[in-house]
Amino acid sequence: MDATVQTLLDKIRVVADKTSKAAGRAADAAGKKATELASATRINLQIFDLNTECEVLYKEIGRMVYEVHQGAEIANDEIDGRIGQVDEKQAKIASLREELSGMKSFVTCPSCGRQCSKDDSFCSSCGGAL
Ligand SMILES: [Zn+2]
Repeated sequence: MDATVQTLLDKIRVVADKTSKAAGRAADAAGKKATELASATRINLQIFDLNTECEVLYKEIGRMVYEVHQGAEIANDEIDGRIGQVDEKQAKIASLREELSGMKSFVTCPSCGRQCSKDDSFCSSCGGAL
């Protein structure tokens, strides 16, 4: 790894520390929904979307780090902004998962972590035994 990339990564680490503390406080105030099934489906979809958005951000961050390595000038806040967005999305995912685990009629798939109905014998996502 060359010195330019190393310096950039050091700067990112400092920002990452600060933002992770702030993101930890993000609370999900979503109320109880009429049916847990509809709610769980909605939450699983939200988690899926958030993960997809994170993948896009990871790709962009990776490309920028590589461009810095190639000698391009990239403003730190361009990368920091994306890292902040990932932090926010990860905090949201964590609180959504918490919300799911609070639903009594659901069990967590031991293979993939998806929330499934207690009545199901197999996971609707990966097919694993529940
Ligand atoms: Zn599964």
